[in-house]
Amino acid sequence: MDTLIQISYFVAAFLFIYGLKRMSSPLTARDGIVWAGVGMLVATLVTFFYPGMENLVLMTTAIFVGGVAAFWSGKRVAMTDMPQMIALYNGMGGGAAGAIAAVELLRGEFHSQTFLTLAVLGGLIGSVSFSGSLIAFAKLQGWLQRPLRFPGQQVFNILVLLVAVGFGALLVIQGEFSGTIILIFFVAALAYGILMAAPIGGADMPVVISLFNALTGLAVAFEGFVLNNAAMIIAGTVVGSAGTLLTQLMARAMNRSIGNVLFSSFGSSGSTEADSVEGSMKPIDAVDAGVMMAYAERVVIIPGYGMAVAQAQHKIKELMKMLLDRGVDVKFAIHPVAGRMPGHMNVLLAEADVPYERLYDLDEINPVFPQTDVALVIGANDVVNPMARTNPDSPIYGMPILNADHAKNVIVIKRGQGKGFSGVENALFFGDNTRMLYGDGQAMVGELIEAVKGL
Ligand code: NDP
Repeated sequence: MDTLIQISYFVAAFLFIYGLKRMSSPLTARDGIVWAGVGMLVATLVTFFYPGMENLVLMTTAIFVGGVAAFWSGKRVAMTDMPQMIALYNGMGGGAAGAIAAVELLRGEFHSQTFLTLAVLGGLIGSVSFSGSLIAFAKLQGWLQRPLRFPGQQVFNILVLLVAVGFGALLVIQGEFSGTIILIFFVAALAYGILMAAPIGGADMPVVISLFNALTGLAVAFEGFVLNNAAMIIAGTVVGSAGTLLTQLMARAMNRSIGNVLFSSFGSSGSTEADSVEGSMKPIDAVDAGVMMAYAERVVIIPGYGMAVAQAQHKIKELMKMLLDRGVDVKFAIHPVAGRMPGHMNVLLAEADVPYERLYDLDEINPVFPQTDVALVIGANDVVNPMARTNPDSPIYGMPILNADHAKNVIVIKRGQGKGFSGVENALFFGDNTRMLYGDGQAMVGELIEAVKGL
């Protein structure tokens, strides 16, 4: 039986990796999720046959309650709320690893010092990821608007971390599993997660979310060793390394080091004097904007979070087709942190069947802007803010952006004067070559389509 269980765990682990591989392209991502889900099902079912497994009723109840809640929330969640949901699920993974550590520490039966150390490390990392992800969730949900900062914060944070590490070390060294020590260890670890995520604001959240993702994977892998569970070790390692790569990618997209994200005061919400802009925004109507695009040689479309809110991707595809039929060269410029989750724009455009080869990333498209007749910005803000390039005092200074302002003409679709996620004013909107097409993304692209059709 034991061999059969181990084989099943390896099959599950293989399915996770295969699923992840398929998730690497928007075209195959959907069935990648299904394969990984089948892997999870295999791993869960086989666990019931694990020798010495007790509490089968409790396990079934927990799986039923969790499964129903996840299915219900997954079905109901709006596409725009997906990032918060991912932050929440990610936190649950860390919390589960922390809970395993707590149970094992309370039980206190470790085969060796190594397993005990891994349990403590997994408990620490998992708890930090759990409470930190909850804060990230609250920020993305808009419940926590401003980053929490106070004098001496970094010293205080380090002290709390030291308490967690110190009590963790005490558990490992003493090998005595006092309830009080375990409690202080977990409370300090959870507090550190909150303190670590609370001051991070503005545009830095992508890095934080992927960092917690990596931490959750690591914690699960450590607890996998403690439970001698191959599926957990492999799945945790895969998530941990994928999360680490994603963190690096996101940090690079923001032009920051991870340490800088965690310990600097970058990305504060709310505008400051440093980002106030002179001049005025000049409106345009859809007919004039449509004419500009229809007679252009080259158009670059820049989608952002507002396109997701407006669910305008299908209309954008229609507009793209009409322009292509008229002989206009249409490209899409995709910023790595546009939207609210990694790959957000790619997913939406793939859903609308926009051909993948029309999507260009930052390095490829930026040299194209000076020869572009019209840059159409739809619901993007922070990712096209030239202040990131020009104003050293701006909180987003240093973040690589799409140089839409270098295009001959810029049309920006947005509903009003709303700021981007970082809360910083955008100099692009005040540019001499920029015209604002005010309104909901989907409605405005609909009007552009009518305008082009009428020519
Ligand atoms: P932003 O959040 O900077 O701006 C979105 C803009 O869309 C707003 O200015 C808003 O203006 C407009 N908008 C909202 N709803 C609509 C609508 N229905 N129709 C038309 N426009 C609309 O988006 P970006 O994509 O440029 O930047 C993403 C930001 O999110 C970055 O700061 C990034 O760091 C951050 N982030 C990214 C994550 C990721 O993994 N990608 C994760 C977490 C945060 P108005 O209200 O006037 O319409």
